[in-house]
Amino acid sequence: MDAIQLDGVVKEYVSHGEVVQAVKGVTLDIAEGEFFSLLGPSGCGKTTTMRMIAGFEEPTRGAVRLYGKDVTDVPPNKRDVNMVFQSYALFPHMSVWDNVAFGLKQKKVPTAEIRQRVTEMLEIVALTGREKRRPREMSGGQQQRVALARALVNHPRALLLDEPLGALDLKLRQAMQLELKRIQREVGITFVYVTHDQSEALTMSDRIAVMNDGLVDQLATPREIYEQPASTFVAGFIGTSNLIAGTATEGVLKISGGRVLVPGHDGEVTVTVRPEKIAIWTEEQPGDLSSVRGTVTEVVYLGTYNNYTVCLADGAEITVFQQNAVDATTTAERGDSVWLSWRPQHSYVIGR
Ligand code: ADP
Ligand code: MG
Repeated sequence: MDAIQLDGVVKEYVSHGEVVQAVKGVTLDIAEGEFFSLLGPSGCGKTTTMRMIAGFEEPTRGAVRLYGKDVTDVPPNKRDVNMVFQSYALFPHMSVWDNVAFGLKQKKVPTAEIRQRVTEMLEIVALTGREKRRPREMSGGQQQRVALARALVNHPRALLLDEPLGALDLKLRQAMQLELKRIQREVGITFVYVTHDQSEALTMSDRIAVMNDGLVDQLATPREIYEQPASTFVAGFIGTSNLIAGTATEGVLKISGGRVLVPGHDGEVTVTVRPEKIAIWTEEQPGDLSSVRGTVTEVVYLGTYNNYTVCLADGAEITVFQQNAVDATTTAERGDSVWLSWRPQHSYVIGR
């Protein structure tokens, strides 16, 4: 069964007498037990979408369904979902234990059950032994785990997380990404995760909805989104991509200093090629390959790989990532004339 369904959801705000469409018509299904991310740049409508799922905002049009039931008019506290925010909103004067137990006490859950559920949750978020600490005596990552335990202890069917790691530094954020994924697997509930960080979404998600200006541009697995971007926006937002546009004739797109093979395509095409799929050579390579000649204008050494910028005769630039692997042979330098080549299956023709 689908845990969450959005059906043509629109949200309009009136701001200074003008109508602002924050969400312009989003339809999507989130499966039970799925780790689902809403990914997109700041202002594209992620938080608004999330708040409509939680019930903090009412859609202007469209419907929200949870477990098949229309909840469009149901208030947040009756929705069986819990939300975790970037600001952890912990009670500063309360211990970790009391923060996590708070909701259950409010609901008059029997003391023995509270003890058992809080113990279990603190174990899951790896905070056993820290029960007596106050929030300020803990790191940002630990505070976020308290906030997570406090939401999960209610046994919601879905957990909504809006940029929950935004306040943490990179190392801690990466550690917490893996931790969150582990916790989700362990508790087995639906996670809906909002982020503007593409690597974060790729790391954790079963599926991602890429949002662009109030709409979903693509909804797919991380691999599909990376390898088969639905739009030039998605191709540019997720990772680095080379975009090549032109007119193909019988599966060949002629470009300045070379050709791109696009088997089965004719007419106007926009092609994306990921930098790590391109090989760099001192001579033209034989065979059924896309192949283009250019001049190296920049080489950036990045430890695990080199980042080359290669300029074609018409001024277009192509980015190439070359792994510093055991068998890496090329040592092109700035100013060198080189040949780039890649296999036909690595040219992906974008739909829009
Ligand atoms: P995101 O979370 O992706 O950064 P939001 O959902 O917060 O985006 O906002 C989407 C758009 O809606 C933005 O342009 C924002 O300024 C606007 N917006 C959000 N909330 C309100 C509001 N309460 N009143 C008016 N405009 C709003
Ligand atoms: Mg937001």
